[in-house]
Amino acid sequence: MSCFCRHICSLSNLLFLLIALGTAYLVYLKIHKPAPAKQVHEDKIIFAFLGAPGSGKGTLAKQVVQELGYKQLSTGDLCRDNIKRETDLGKKLQEYTSKGALVPDDVISSMAKEWLDVNTKDGKNIILDGYPRTANQAELLLNMIKTFYPDYKLRVVSLNISDDAVVERLCGRLMCSNKDCGAIYNIKQFVDIEHPVCATCGSPLIKREDDKEEVIRERLKIYTQTSQAVIDAFKKAGFAVEEITIEDKNPKEVFEAFKKMIA
Ligand code: AMP
Repeated sequence: MSCFCRHICSLSNLLFLLIALGTAYLVYLKIHKPAPAKQVHEDKIIFAFLGAPGSGKGTLAKQVVQELGYKQLSTGDLCRDNIKRETDLGKKLQEYTSKGALVPDDVISSMAKEWLDVNTKDGKNIILDGYPRTANQAELLLNMIKTFYPDYKLRVVSLNISDDAVVERLCGRLMCSNKDCGAIYNIKQFVDIEHPVCATCGSPLIKREDDKEEVIRERLKIYTQTSQAVIDAFKKAGFAVEEITIEDKNPKEVFEAFKKMIA
């Protein structure tokens, strides 16, 4: 009988032990909740916008920055900023920009890299507006991404427009003189106004030094000569060139076309 009692006793001890262990395990799980699966980040993308001067690369880029939170590298703005601040580099750059000529590949590419080094840190998508413009720059860019920014994928977008439409647009282009604003207008919007100001920040509007017909024609000639080589360099490296037709679209429609493209 006493043997039977001891047996029952040890069984109930065992049961008690199991319940205690189970409870302890549940408490442990509650405290040390398994971490949620690491969020899968969307791809980080560098969009290279190709397009003739005046095709609206800058206008589209600015909209994408404002509405979608991307960052914009405009190599033309970097040049103008250096020229305005009269840096040593700016003095050299002006020799090229005032004639509508291209700045040497190594100079413009190291300016682009310096900017990318700082601006890729937060992982935001990036738009390259006006870079690359030669096959050599395209190859330098591809190497840069592979070596220094491997988390980024490249997408190449070509904005297509005819030469005549470009000349008409650029001869009438006005820019906000406040470089932090940089809004772009057309003289047609201000036919009756002597001193037009920016609708966004109130700063005076100015004409770009290189928006003169002879300089525009020179920039277009250079663009036509070099753009196909840039496209070929990207295609050779295995990148598709996505196209947006600009000709008959206003900026809002171009932005909608871009959003559709990335959806
Ligand atoms: P943009 O504002 O892009 O039309 O550029 C204005 C001027 O800056 C050009 O006419 C060139 O002199 C110079 N520039 C800008 N980007 C580049 C580039 N990728 N390669 C060579 N020159 C450039």
